[in-house]
Amino acid sequence: MSLLVVGSVAFDAVRTPHGSVEKMLGGSATYFAVAASYFAPVRVVGVVGDDFEEQHLRVLRDRGVCTEGIERVPGKTFFWAGEYAPNMNERTTLDTQLNVFATFQPKLPGHYRQSPFLFLANIHPRLQRQVQEQMRSPQLVGGDTMNLWIETERPALERMLQGLDILVINDAEARQLSGEWNLAKAGRRIRALGPRTVVIKRGDNGASVYEEDHVFMAPALPLENVVDPTGAGDSFAGGFMGYLAASANGVPTTPRARMRRAIIYGSVMGSFAVERFGLERLQHLTREEIDDRYSQFRQLTHFD
Ligand code: AMP
Repeated sequence: MSLLVVGSVAFDAVRTPHGSVEKMLGGSATYFAVAASYFAPVRVVGVVGDDFEEQHLRVLRDRGVCTEGIERVPGKTFFWAGEYAPNMNERTTLDTQLNVFATFQPKLPGHYRQSPFLFLANIHPRLQRQVQEQMRSPQLVGGDTMNLWIETERPALERMLQGLDILVINDAEARQLSGEWNLAKAGRRIRALGPRTVVIKRGDNGASVYEEDHVFMAPALPLENVVDPTGAGDSFAGGFMGYLAASANGVPTTPRARMRRAIIYGSVMGSFAVERFGLERLQHLTREEIDDRYSQFRQLTHFD
C-alpha cells in the first residue's frame, strides 16, 4: 500500500548542547519518507533548488523512496536553522527561508494521485491543500503543521484540517491551535475542526491518541543518548503512517489495536531519529533493530 508525502525537503543548520551542524539534509518530508520507508513504499512530492545535489537525493533513493515527485528548479533549497535549549525539549527557530517553496505549485505525477495513503507533512497549508485536491479518494489522509502556520495562515490551515482523517501534532501546537491547555480538551476541540483522530506528540513524555471513544497513551523510551531532536516528530509520523499503510490489508486484530501499534512504531522511529545528528541514525536501520525497540516499548509498559 503506497504512501505519498508532501512536505519540506530542506537544508538545516542545527545547534544542540552536543554540537552543531552548519548544513545537513533535512525537511519534514525527508524525515517522514526515510522513517516510513521501513514499512511501506513511499513517494515524495516537494521542490529543491539547484544547490541540491545527487548525494542528497540518493539518501532517499537508497531507502527505496520514489523521488519522481521532487521538482528541481533554479534557486535555493528551503533552509531552516534551529537551536535547542539544554533540556533538549525547547527549541528556537533562528531562520526559515522558504526559497523555492515560496513559488512552488505541486503537480502530482499521474500514478501518485492513486496513492491510497497520503501524509501532508509540515509545509504551508496552501501547498498541503493543493496536493490533497489532486488525489483520487485516498483511503486515509494524515497531516501535520506547526506554530508558524497556526499564527500566520489560520484560514488556509482550517481548510486543510477539514480534509484530514488524522492530525499528528506536538503538544505546544495542539494547545495553540485549540486554545486549550488541557490536552484531552485540546484533542476534542481539534477533532471538531475535521480530523477524527488526533495524535499528540509530547517529546520525551511520549505520545497520546484522542478519538471519539478511544484514548491511548504511549510512553517515550528513557534514552540516555539524545543528540539532536530535529526530525523526531516527522520520523514519528513516518513510522506511524508507514505502519498503518503496511497493515491496511490483513489488520492484526481490531482497528484500535492497529492504531496503538502504529503509535508505538511511530515512537520507535522517533527514538532512533534523536540519537545522532540529522538522518545519520535513521537512514541505516535494520528490521531487527526496529523490532527490538518495539519489544522494549512492550516491556516498558507491561505490568501484569
Ligand atoms: P521536527 O523536528 O520533526 O518538528 O521537524 C524538523 C524539520 O522541519 C526540519 O528538518 C526543518 O527543515 C523542517 N521545518 C522547519 N520549519 C519548517 C516550515 N516552516 N515548513 C516546513 N518545514 C519546516
